[in-house]
Amino acid sequence: MTARGFAETLSGAVIESIERRGKFLLFSLRGEDVHLVVNPKLTGRFQLCPPGAKKAGPVHVTFLFDQPPEELRYIDQKRMGQLYLTQTPQDVPTFSDMGPDALEVTREEFKQRLQSYRGEIKGILTRGALVSGIGNAYADEILWNARLHPYRKRTSLSLDETEALFHALRTTLVESTEQVRIAMKEDIHLKPREFFAVHMRGGQACPRCGTTISLVGANQRITNFCRGCQPGGLIRGM
Ligand SMILES: [Zn+2]
Repeated sequence: MTARGFAETLSGAVIESIERRGKFLLFSLRGEDVHLVVNPKLTGRFQLCPPGAKKAGPVHVTFLFDQPPEELRYIDQKRMGQLYLTQTPQDVPTFSDMGPDALEVTREEFKQRLQSYRGEIKGILTRGALVSGIGNAYADEILWNARLHPYRKRTSLSLDETEALFHALRTTLVESTEQVRIAMKEDIHLKPREFFAVHMRGGQACPRCGTTISLVGANQRITNFCRGCQPGGLIRGM
């Protein structure tokens, strides 16, 4: 759809609900058989602010509301994100490849689904097919909470470790959501991360055991973990 068609379709529309599915956002419009689906990828986010407020980053789309004083801006540093207007969100690329939401998957479902994946546990968590909604940073935090080395093979995990992983997944996301809520307040464009235990903490002391936190990889694919309390796994890239 062109920018013009996009604007025409949304003109006069009323947002009825906003829902998150994995990393996607779904805006439902009142009385319209069309959804606005946003895949923010790595750096897409929204800024809700009065018109004229300082831009929190490069603005690509601005939604103007009838009722001031606010407008909603889609900002994206890397311009990787995508916005779709569609009647069938399932048709949006990668939307239907997503596993169940990380906060909704049950323990049994998680354990059962995990059986069909091989390879390293961090990669399985971040790819989104097992469960959706876990990015690179939160995978590091979850694995640290579960005391699992990120490069452990899924097939090497014991039943207890699988249980620990499910528990860590749930608690990390629930507790982090609360931390983000407190730090973010109305500034929804912020990305609070000060509470992370290991991610982006390479070279610092592990808050659990004091060992220096390791760093592997570069750019958006950094992996941080603690060799002291997340032992095992094939060490690569070192
Ligand atoms: Zn440690």
